[in-house]
Amino acid sequence: MSGNEMKFIQEAFDTNWVVPLGPNVNGFEEDLEKFVGEGKKVVVLASGTAAVHLGMVSLGVGPGDEVVCQSFTFAASCNPARYLGATPVFVDSEEKTWNIDPNILEDAVKDRIRKTGRKPKAIVPVYMYGMPAYIDEVLAVGKQYDIPVLEDSAEAFGSLYKGRMTGSLGEYGVMSFNGNKMITTSGGGALICPNEEAKKRIMFYATQAREDKPYYLHEHIGYNYRMSNVCAGIGRGQMTVVHDHIEHHRKIAAMYAEAFEGHPIVKVHTEPEEYMRSNFWLSTITFETGDTNIGEMEPAPIVMEAMAALAAEDIESRPLWRPMHTQPVYNGAPAYINGTCERLFKKGLCLPSGPCVDDSDVERVIKTIKKVAEGHLA
Ligand SMILES: *Cc1c(COP(=O)(O)O)cnc(C)c1O
Repeated sequence: MSGNEMKFIQEAFDTNWVVPLGPNVNGFEEDLEKFVGEGKKVVVLASGTAAVHLGMVSLGVGPGDEVVCQSFTFAASCNPARYLGATPVFVDSEEKTWNIDPNILEDAVKDRIRKTGRKPKAIVPVYMYGMPAYIDEVLAVGKQYDIPVLEDSAEAFGSLYKGRMTGSLGEYGVMSFNGNKMITTSGGGALICPNEEAKKRIMFYATQAREDKPYYLHEHIGYNYRMSNVCAGIGRGQMTVVHDHIEHHRKIAAMYAEAFEGHPIVKVHTEPEEYMRSNFWLSTITFETGDTNIGEMEPAPIVMEAMAALAAEDIESRPLWRPMHTQPVYNGAPAYINGTCERLFKKGLCLPSGPCVDDSDVERVIKTIKKVAEGHLA
């Protein structure tokens, strides 16, 4: 917390705006619209997952439809397709950004059209750990086949692609303010909308789809997805320090990158293009040892060893996201996979990077990982 949050929360209580609308909701949306730029409109919601869901609703995703999703992601990127009775079609990542591979994406779109006779309803790229994707190439596929792009920028708040905010480049963009994200409202999210009309439609669906009548008339199925005015107060406070937070995460990422530069085993995930600027929500590494447990969807032994060594030093770490096409719940979903995200899952590890992690913490992490890696040098 920045210390500025309580002022906005106190205001909400003093004025009795303890409801899912009010001055903090409007103020937070204004802050976000200014932050995102591009003339975009923003609707704040109860969660990032709700934002993915309403983005799909607005794009007309329904029963029997297909939605192309990045396999290498958190379940919240694709679960809303299922909420709507649609089927996610999973696409693998490329090695450089770890995000959706535009070439495989195009093959997948062509193949779906050939097999089903219909176009997928949306393409959902994700910015893993804050890293921008090759989004121009993704948007070009969307344009060629006339399929809208819903960017899941939940992890990439404030990341830049060619100087523009991720989440502002497709038809819709998703933000998350969950407790673990770049900024938080305890729980919350937002949908970046192309214009005022789309914003009105999203607000309509987020507030139970009540028609404009003095009584309750419903012509559509709606949701109760608006953000609380109390939570939005936290968001306004967080916006006063967002740039500091991002700089902190970037500084930590740079420390890891420098420490492991040229290392024979440990590779730090860095920006592959100078026009990409990650917020480095999480700092991530891969262990390039070859023993990646091929055939088993478990992290490689060296990853487990590193996690245990870090845990012994009271340091928390996590494997990378396990790809969606390998999740039991998505067994049988169409998938266009060349092995990249499975390999990343088996080789990778997320390291501490949050606002409370200081230089000496980073040094302890580096020392522990170097020691584990030493045991694997030929
Ligand atoms: C966190 C996250 C979400 C969902 O956000 P919530 O606010 O937790 O619902 C969606 N997609 C990705 C990739 C995420 O990491």
